[in-house]
Amino acid sequence: MRRVHATFLAIIVALLALVYAPTSAKADSLFRNSCLLSTDLPLTFSQAFSSKQWNCRPQYHQAITGHSWQKLDIDGAPDGNFVIETVSGPLERVRVVGRDHHGILHQQVFAGAALSRLWMPGNGLAVPVAVRGDKLSALYLAFDGTPSSPPATELAFKTADQAHQEKVSHSVLYALAMAVLGTIAIFSAFMGIASDNRTVALHGAFSALVAVYTASSSSLVFLAFPSLTLWDRAALSYASLSLAVAMLGPIMSSFFERRIFCRIEKRAMLATAALAALGSICLPLSLLVDFNARVTYHLLFLPGIFVLIYGIAVATMRRSRNVGGFILAWAAPLTLGIERVLRGAGLYYLPSWIDSLFFIALAAQALIMAGAIALQAEAVRRERDLAHDRAREMEDEALTDALTGLYNRRDFDARKWRRSDILAIVDLDRFKPINDGWGHDTGDEVLRAVGRVLGECVADNQALRAWRLGGEEFAVALTGPSIDSAAIILNTVRQKITAAARSAVPQVDRRITASAGLAMVGQQGMRQAFRAADAALYRAKAAGRDRLCYESGDMSFATIFPKKRRAA
Ligand code: GH3
Ligand code: MG
Ligand code: MG
Repeated sequence: MRRVHATFLAIIVALLALVYAPTSAKADSLFRNSCLLSTDLPLTFSQAFSSKQWNCRPQYHQAITGHSWQKLDIDGAPDGNFVIETVSGPLERVRVVGRDHHGILHQQVFAGAALSRLWMPGNGLAVPVAVRGDKLSALYLAFDGTPSSPPATELAFKTADQAHQEKVSHSVLYALAMAVLGTIAIFSAFMGIASDNRTVALHGAFSALVAVYTASSSSLVFLAFPSLTLWDRAALSYASLSLAVAMLGPIMSSFFERRIFCRIEKRAMLATAALAALGSICLPLSLLVDFNARVTYHLLFLPGIFVLIYGIAVATMRRSRNVGGFILAWAAPLTLGIERVLRGAGLYYLPSWIDSLFFIALAAQALIMAGAIALQAEAVRRERDLAHDRAREMEDEALTDALTGLYNRRDFDARKWRRSDILAIVDLDRFKPINDGWGHDTGDEVLRAVGRVLGECVADNQALRAWRLGGEEFAVALTGPSIDSAAIILNTVRQKITAAARSAVPQVDRRITASAGLAMVGQQGMRQAFRAADAALYRAKAAGRDRLCYESGDMSFATIFPKKRRAA
């Protein structure tokens, strides 16, 4: 368990290092040589140009408004036509105004589906800038959206070729993450239905939502649905991730052993799920009510994150066997999720490529969880089989006689007899004197020998089942074409008992014999047959023991004597 904690910690530290090391330097250069004009209402270029509100040392938070103009330093721009890569969001319009060296302004406007066509994999937009003639002397960009749009803080100049190459290679990465998530979602759906396993089904649904989230948030959704707007994409992305986060509570409470969470904790998990699900309508709601959907949406993740941390802590404390796999799967997405919430709430700035780590972490999470769920299902199955075996053993123990290994009276009483069954009651002759003369242990040896003979008789299919009814009295169920054939079989059994007893207790210097009474169950039923067999046994005893009696068809008693005896 300690190793799991160490892994968890190492992953978090590594991720934090990975996230913060390269970005602290980059954050400074965001607005380098760039001037910002943020307003609540959209401005035309000439309105913006003549404004006195331009801020040439902009801070990150100043960019978070619905509308902004940005004057760019174009020193780093490539020659000829180029592309400005920037951050996407629920934007409605992007305007590009370039001034050529003759002082002529050229404006390009991108809105609706034309704006979505500029998508770059991840949270990017590649805005093309057409340059007529030589270099531009100035370049302005306008971003119009809602205050929920992320600020256009990251700007990079690229050639169209560079942007295209980046688009292809990054798309492959996101497509791979989607393929993993999609495959797991489909497979889990089938498995969940087939095995009636709630955890598998929930994990499948979660993976499907994360796949939709990956498709929308990475912009790959535009490949399939080019007519969607950036706003549609953002709404889809918000909705799918919120619903996925909402599923965390239910997933946790079904993934861990039933004893781990108490009822109140389970209810609280469902409550946080409802709260997180609200995030899915955040963006549409922000059209009706005035609030910052982006910040609210990110804050609504907090319950999900809290549930994860609380759940992991509790499962560890209460010694869940499944917590290791869960931590392994969730350490990375949890860390990156927390980072996203803090960033989404506007506390600080990091470049948007960090988001791609989140997708990779989520895809890895889905894979690890699939493995963990499979292992857990296997463990549960093994446990159930063991419990099953144990229950069967106990049942067998309750129905067997410890001394002889034969079935006991309880099993005898529970048997469903058929009409064709023949019941034999076998009783050792003058057994008490053996106990008295050679000791109880010797008596036990004899009883064991009888147990072996009757057991073999069943194993050889000569009898159906054999019981020790108590003391030195046994019962055997036989079947056959007639009671006479059963009598012949049972008589050989009697002889075998004598032989087995002789070799088991050679010290006993007299023949140990058994008497038996037989009766067919037939029409009379079991109770009556038992009485008849007992009466026949009584007759055998009365007639001098070491013999077998039964009532034959003509109502007279047939007796089979041991051959040896007859010869003697
Ligand atoms: P009969 O030929 O009339 O059947 O005479 P019997 O001596 O065999 O019959 P009885 O019912 O008088 O004696 C049965 C004896 O079986 C009495 C008891 O000491 C012995 N017995 C019962 N259960 C056990 C056991 O588990 N182990 C041993 N060693 N003896 C037992
Ligand atoms: Mg007896
Ligand atoms: Mg007896």
